[in-house]
Amino acid sequence: MPGETLTDNRELRHQLESLLAQARQNEQVLCRFQEAELRMLGIGGLKELLHYVLLELKGSFELDMVTLALIDPEYEVRRMLIDLGIAADFPGLIFLDSPAKFLRLCGSSLMPVLGQYNAASRAPFFPSGSTPASIAVLPMVRQKKLIGSLNLGSANDQRFAPGMATDFIARLAMIAGVCLENVTNSERLKHLGLTDPLTGVHNRRYFEQRLQEEVGRAQRQGYPLSCLFLDIDHFKRINDEHGHQTGDCVLREVAWRIKGQLRSIDVLGRYGGEEFAVLLIQTDSDSAFNVAERIRLGIAEQRFKSEENAAVAATISVGVATLRDGSRAHSIEALAQQLVAQADQALYRAKHGGRNRVVGG
Ligand code: GH3
Ligand code: MG
Ligand code: MG
Repeated sequence: MPGETLTDNRELRHQLESLLAQARQNEQVLCRFQEAELRMLGIGGLKELLHYVLLELKGSFELDMVTLALIDPEYEVRRMLIDLGIAADFPGLIFLDSPAKFLRLCGSSLMPVLGQYNAASRAPFFPSGSTPASIAVLPMVRQKKLIGSLNLGSANDQRFAPGMATDFIARLAMIAGVCLENVTNSERLKHLGLTDPLTGVHNRRYFEQRLQEEVGRAQRQGYPLSCLFLDIDHFKRINDEHGHQTGDCVLREVAWRIKGQLRSIDVLGRYGGEEFAVLLIQTDSDSAFNVAERIRLGIAEQRFKSEENAAVAATISVGVATLRDGSRAHSIEALAQQLVAQADQALYRAKHGGRNRVVGG
């Protein structure tokens, strides 16, 4: 009898110990999730949030892959990333134009999907590099609308299996969704403050911010940076002859024709009334001259339309300046000022030389 009690006691103690160990482990897991959630909630910018979700979460949760799929039908988030200069920084970020791929995988219930990786249905969520053995695709829903998914991948095929509890990871994805929505809203507001409402291109404030950044980068990395100053010729006449509304249409169209000749990494701003400024990244003076000439021709050779559909001719004068390697002795502010002043002086010479021309600084 006493022998049996002893065995019972030992067994009970054993069970208790394993329950305690389990409870301790659960607490650790809970802490890890809480820590991640608090970190995300404390982040104020899109770049920082993407960095945390796509790069740091992987380490904290011992995952082999983390990707984020975002439904971005209007290309809005993609444009934000270009504006922030981080479009190529996050290969784990996937953009989908519609929710169709989710619905195929998750069905309309939008519940988390856990299980083995299956190339046919799951490849869109893990597009690059090696493939995981097991995955969790966690839909992010905001106000009953699917905005994307947080996708976790593990090399361990037992890590995610159907039927596992998903409370913690689903909550993590939900909070990631809230944080993403918050930071994209605040980026949207910032964007509005840096955009010219008439033409939709950036404004002078944005251009000047980027000028400092780009001069600093060009100086550090030792590549040439070119600047164009562009001013529509006799714009007052266009307003006087065709009306202010037509003037606005021409301005808008000129902005888009300039933009059409630039790469996505270049910077365009409406600098003043009918004046634009461009930064051509990693571009020497010969190439800058060629771009400027293409812009000039693109405007001079194709008529614009007035409000009444009449053809309106317009031309543009362009000043070009280039910041060359070897200007390291000066401060960034001084170099930026010098670059802009040179482009402006070149523009002045283009005007005095007869307009509709490109002049180098
Ligand atoms: P130049 O060849 O020397 O540059 O001559 P210009 O007539 O283009 O230059 P000026 O600076 O004398 O006139 C610029 C005109 O641009 C005057 C202003 O009313 C007009 N303007 C500025 N902003 C806008 C705008 O947003 N819409 C319209 N329609 N006109 C504008
Ligand atoms: Mg003008
Ligand atoms: Mg002007």
